[in-house]
Amino acid sequence: MKQEGKFILMSRGELRSYIEGLKGSKTFKTIQQHHTASPAYKDVKNNHFQLMKGMENYHVNTLKMSEIAQHFSTFPDGAICVGRPLSKDGGGFLGDQNRNSITIENVGNFDSDNMTEEQKQSIILLNALLCKKFNITPSTSTLIYHCWVQNKSCPGTKYFGGNSKAAAEQNFIPLIKAAMQEPLTFEMALQIVVEKIDSSYSYWLKRKDIDPAFKALIIKIAKSYGGK
Ligand SMILES: [Zn+2]
Repeated sequence: MKQEGKFILMSRGELRSYIEGLKGSKTFKTIQQHHTASPAYKDVKNNHFQLMKGMENYHVNTLKMSEIAQHFSTFPDGAICVGRPLSKDGGGFLGDQNRNSITIENVGNFDSDNMTEEQKQSIILLNALLCKKFNITPSTSTLIYHCWVQNKSCPGTKYFGGNSKAAAEQNFIPLIKAAMQEPLTFEMALQIVVEKIDSSYSYWLKRKDIDPAFKALIIKIAKSYGGK
């Protein structure tokens, strides 16, 4: 994890323990799905914190909000950044629509950008972990695309194959449900193991193919540490 002020940048591997370990948050009933539109993919150059600060500046100075609107941002490289604290409602919809609602902003313009596989995986995992944490059942009433409550294209006409409710029911909701059921992945397991033995996540991630049994072994070890 890397931190600048309140912004905490993490990998998918780190996200699970972060969300499972969250304390002092409100209760939430819905999760908002947005794209940033601007910044789009062309603006992303390993500048996560700069983009976070830019978005917060826009929300504070132009939209007159108290701070950044989104609790979580996802990036094309799969990184996830924490922004607004979960002691507050989200700020991505209008007024009352934000009540008990988590805001996720996915960096990109998914009217035109083709979402990377890394970002897809992060969006799926983030939604699944939040649904588990807050006992939210994934549906089009709980995972809410911005365009369903306001007249705009957000989270983008190409967001998981379309921004309609029918597209979400077909292409998005099932992925979140499946991820909630999914047992420990190698990435998650590795995160648990490296924390226990104080080793480097990225070091072992790069060496994941050193032996055909390596991934299964790490998952087994993580489970022995209590990972689910
Ligand atoms: Zn939006």
